[in-house]
Formats: sequence, structure tokens, C-alpha cells
Amino acid sequence: MTYLINLECPQCEQSFSAITAQTYCHDCQSPILARYDLVSAKNRLDRDEYSTSQAGMWRWHDLLPVDNTGRISTLGEGDTPLIQTKRMGKSDRTNQVWIKDESINPTASFKARGLSAAVSKANEVGLNQLVIPTAGNAGSALAAYASRVRLKSAAVMPIDTPRAIIDECRFYGAETILVDGLISDCARIVDEMVESGEWFSVSTFREPYRLEGKKIMGYELAQAFEWQLPNIIIYPTGGGTGLVGMWKAFQELLELGWLEDKNLPKMISVQSSGCAPVVEAFNSGAESCDFWKNAETIAGGIRVPLSLADRLILEILRESAGRAIAVSDLEILEAQAELAREEGLFSSPEGAATLAAYNLLTSSGFITPDDRTILFMTASGVKYI
Ligand SMILES: *Cc1c(COP(=O)(O)O)cnc(C)c1O
Ligand SMILES: [Zn+2]
Repeated sequence: MTYLINLECPQCEQSFSAITAQTYCHDCQSPILARYDLVSAKNRLDRDEYSTSQAGMWRWHDLLPVDNTGRISTLGEGDTPLIQTKRMGKSDRTNQVWIKDESINPTASFKARGLSAAVSKANEVGLNQLVIPTAGNAGSALAAYASRVRLKSAAVMPIDTPRAIIDECRFYGAETILVDGLISDCARIVDEMVESGEWFSVSTFREPYRLEGKKIMGYELAQAFEWQLPNIIIYPTGGGTGLVGMWKAFQELLELGWLEDKNLPKMISVQSSGCAPVVEAFNSGAESCDFWKNAETIAGGIRVPLSLADRLILEILRESAGRAIAVSDLEILEAQAELAREEGLFSSPEGAATLAAYNLLTSSGFITPDDRTILFMTASGVKYI
């Protein structure tokens, strides 16, 4: 069973039903967040029963939003390996860095987690045509999970999306629409499709449940580190679903009383210098981000000019004493080569950006050799060829 109660807007605290389809808070232009009965959960659930014997994200179904487990669309997402680096880093304490290898998820990216949750909940509340504006990976994940439970899907993506991903969407049977523009232009087309009345948008933070799937990365980390969270998490930030999701997981874990100590990780957002709205706002002390004009980077998944969760992202970076940092495409390419050569991992550019950020933050002294650090390798490099 799920302990889900309802959803709430973090800005105005308005509550929303979890039984009907939900989007976001239109009054505040803010995402809404799923709330669970964590008091009952604390009394009844035992953290040690979440053994990895039944692998995958849905073993945490008590803390995921679907009540009718027969409605779940799953392909075995989650429980991705945490690979301790062998040569990474420049000191002799290199074994304090781990790579969360999300490339082994179904559809080869961590978008699988969010779309498994969103499609499952859509399936439970009776939606049957789902559309998404996407840089690619979210589109193929939507298409795969939708086909699994026989829902219709449409992926609206920039024309320069890697060919492998476009083909993948078509194979899964998604209506695949190519747009001569950025993801923000795709979003406008999705808006028109939604207004036509036939389609429901599962765009980042326009629906509340992709976040819930992504938050499980936080639960997995807590469990892997025996309920003592690592010191640093470096996350390639586009919409910020995983960053907001993991922080939400940590708050839930505190309420559940499952953490051995209350020290939460410093959360680091890495963006490309060609599209860095979060970095700019963080450095200028702003509470929200400005739309980034003429966004350009090889890391398509983080080519997001503005996130609906901009305020939440900035709050989390500050509350956790973290940072936002920009890396150039050249630094990303060098880090991609370094990861492959030194560790045997072929990462997407977004994942490689976390290593580029790690290298900068260790040289500046922000990350010390003793810091247990997690780099998120969010997708496989193979998808970008
Ligand atoms: C979507 C995506 C990201 C960014 O994730 P958000 O949660 O939207 O910030 C990073 N890397 C890859 C490979 C992606 O597809
Ligand atoms: Zn609100």
C-alpha cells in the first residue's frame, strides 16, 4: 500500500487530491509535492526490511504514489550500481568518490525512474494519452513505459536530438514530433496539444510524480551508505527533478527517523556554461532564475533555459551549503574521455559534467579528499552517437 495522502504547493500550502490527475499550482507557478503519512509509516515500516532481495525502485512502493500495484508500469528501473572509482581524483584518498551509474536503467538513462512513476500514476487515475517536451531521454522513457501499459504517448523534441533516441521513440510507438528549436519551443507545442483536450502533459514538474520516482535515488544512497548520507552529491541540473527529489527523500528519511545522523549532503548543481540559469542566480543571490537566452551545449539533458522548480533548486543548494557551478563543453568532453579511460565508464555528456565539476571543486578546495562524494552518471554515452 502507499502512505500517500495528498499533494501540497510548497509556496502557498494549498492542497491537491491524490486521487484525480494533478498538474502544478497555477496560482504560484510552482510544482506541487506529494505528501505521505510519515507518522504512520514511521510506526509501521522498518528500514531494514527494504533489503535489495526484490530489486528495483518499486520495492519502496509504500513511499511511492501508486495505490493499485496492478497499475504499475515497470521495466526493472532503479537499484543502479554505485561504482567506487579506482583512479579518479588527484590525492591518495581517491576511493571516496562513487559513481551512481544510471545508464543501466531501462532506456539507458535515469529518466526511466521518473517516467515509471508518472506513467503508473497516470494509468491509475485513468489518463490515457501522455505527451512530453523533451531533449530526448525523457521522451524515450515515456514511450517505453506507456507502451508497456498500452497508453498512447507523444514525444516533442528538438530536431538535433541524437538519432538513436528519435529512432528509439518511434520503435516504442510514440508519436514523435521534431521541432526546429529548443525544449522551450517544444513546450509551447505541448501546451497546444494539452489545450486541444486530448493530451495530458508529463513535462518536468508540470506533473508531480516524476519527482517521486527520482527521489528513490536518495533512498538508495541512504541504504547503500548504511543510513549515513554521503557528504557531497554532484548533479547535472536541467529541470532539477533528481536534485529536488533526493532532497525530498532526505527530509522524508529524517521524519521517518531512519538516518543514523542528521548531516545531509552538500548538493551541487552542475550546468554547462552555455546554459547556466541556476549558476547565475545562485552566484547573484537571487531567489529565482532568469530565462537563459540562446542556450547552447552538447549536454542536451541540461540545456534547459528555465525550470519551474527554480526557487526550490536554489533553496536546496543554499540550505545544504552546496554550490552551483558551470563547466564548458570542452571540460565536459575531457571529463567524458577521462571517465572512459580511467574508470571504464562511457558516460553521456551530462554525467561527465559531474566529473568536470568535481575536478574544479577539488582544485578550489571546496571538496576535500575526505569528502564522500557521489557523481551522477545520468545516461549512457551510447545514446548520443
Ligand atoms: C534530463 C537529464 C538530466 C537533467 O535532469 P533533471 O532532473 O531534469 O535536472 C541530466 N542528464 C541526463 C542524461 C538527462 O537526460
Ligand atoms: Zn501555490
